[in-house]
Amino acid sequence: MLCIVGCGAAGLAAALESREKKIVIIDGKGAASAISPWNMQAEQGLKEKMLNTGKINNREILDYFIENYSTAKEFLEKHNIKLRKSNMGIIPNYRMVGKELTEIFRKKLIEKGVKIVEGNVKGIRVKGDKLCSIVVNSKEIYAENFIFAFGGLGNLYKYSTYVGAASNLLAACLEAGFEIGNLQYNMFHPFLIIDKKLPNTLLSGTLLQKMRFINSQNKEFLSEEIIEALKNNKYHYLFSKMCREFYAESLKNKIYAEILLNENEFNEYKQRDEFGWIFANRKLSEIRRFRITPAFHYSLGGLTIDRNAKTSFENVYAAGECTTGLHGCERVGGVAIAEAIIFGITAAKNANNGKLCRKGKLIKIPEIDEKHRQLFWELLGPIKRKKKLETFIDENKRTDDIYIKLALKAAELSLDGNLGLNYVID
Ligand SMILES: Cc1cc2nc3c(=O)[nH]c(=O)nc-3n(C[C@H](O)[C@H](O)[C@H](O)COP(=O)(O)OP(=O)(O)OC[C@H]3O[C@@H](n4cnc5c(N)ncnc54)[C@H](O)[C@@H]3O)c2cc1C
Repeated sequence: MLCIVGCGAAGLAAALESREKKIVIIDGKGAASAISPWNMQAEQGLKEKMLNTGKINNREILDYFIENYSTAKEFLEKHNIKLRKSNMGIIPNYRMVGKELTEIFRKKLIEKGVKIVEGNVKGIRVKGDKLCSIVVNSKEIYAENFIFAFGGLGNLYKYSTYVGAASNLLAACLEAGFEIGNLQYNMFHPFLIIDKKLPNTLLSGTLLQKMRFINSQNKEFLSEEIIEALKNNKYHYLFSKMCREFYAESLKNKIYAEILLNENEFNEYKQRDEFGWIFANRKLSEIRRFRITPAFHYSLGGLTIDRNAKTSFENVYAAGECTTGLHGCERVGGVAIAEAIIFGITAAKNANNGKLCRKGKLIKIPEIDEKHRQLFWELLGPIKRKKKLETFIDENKRTDDIYIKLALKAAELSLDGNLGLNYVID
């Protein structure tokens, strides 16, 4: 049997493409894929862009990704997903892309006979470098083969562009001895809407070019370089710098986004843009100015995999945002969905040699609470402070809390000297 944890783009692609007769897929509440517009970068020059942006990419993984890039589009076309051209490359032609595609693929899984289990994973049983079972809804699911597709660390941060299931398996994987890397690297996004007038969601896409960003004193605070980059849609290559400017201001003042379109232009934008739904039924005069904050957006660190999508555990493969290596210390926007699909399919192809194991050690995974979220945001947010990291490490060495252990590992890696585009202030 194959047990897949996660029902986002990576898990869905793996379940749809697997030839295993008996498949169980576990879906907790929340998935980045379900709220994502699935915008995908054009293929041309992508490898150079990713190398220049990420700087320390795993070349084996990057080469494999580029060699197989067309697979993502072919997978969508094979499943009759309509595509159109976008500002980046291509995008599925649906109003609420993530939500609608998730529904389409889930229906296909049911037709295929895949068992979907809804629930939050509460534990994993391991024996040496083998995974025996997954604990969910007070039951233990044993399988020969597993695919981890449990997404990123969004639920561990106070401000986040997506919130996943109530527990996070990466912490349990660390405890179990999986090889994990790059926890010091995350992608933060400046544009999480936190205004009661609008949904609490990420704003991105073409509207950013037609906005002004001001603080509570009505003053613009961004550097000329970032203002120009935003205007000209070139900000993707300056993401960390842009986020740091927003974050530094957010520590002093509230931040607001102001729309510079007229009513007609705004109505047209609402109809045609993938983020237009955010403003549905709202007049421009009501929401011309709204509050935003920087937020956690994407985990660059995670489970180490090879080009076969195999983790350091014998019978566990992994795909999507829960893995690491492809993006180095920063990521080009618009490649995460392709990554999830390509490695999801690869994992499905290879996850078939495992053996059943029993009587291993059970690692329990408690729910994440507000204290964890506050801690991750303040300690491991867009700006990390050396003293704070050192004190945290000193004070928590003997902790039993698996999330604090994950934070400790990220803190230690952050102090290692190679922070890439993230940085430490004394
Ligand atoms: C708002 C937004 C917009 C984005 N836009 C784009 C874009 O345009 N293009 C692009 O390429 N990328 C984009 N991204 C990034 C991309 O969408 C994600 O990286 C990608 O969807 C991750 O897919 P995944 O399958 O790895 O994880 P997810 O989609 O997050 O799925 C994880 C799954 O695992 C389950 N799970 C996790 N933990 C547990 C647990 N303990 N118990 C049970 N189940 C669990 C979750 O419930 C979920 O089903 C965007 C992200 C966001 C948030």
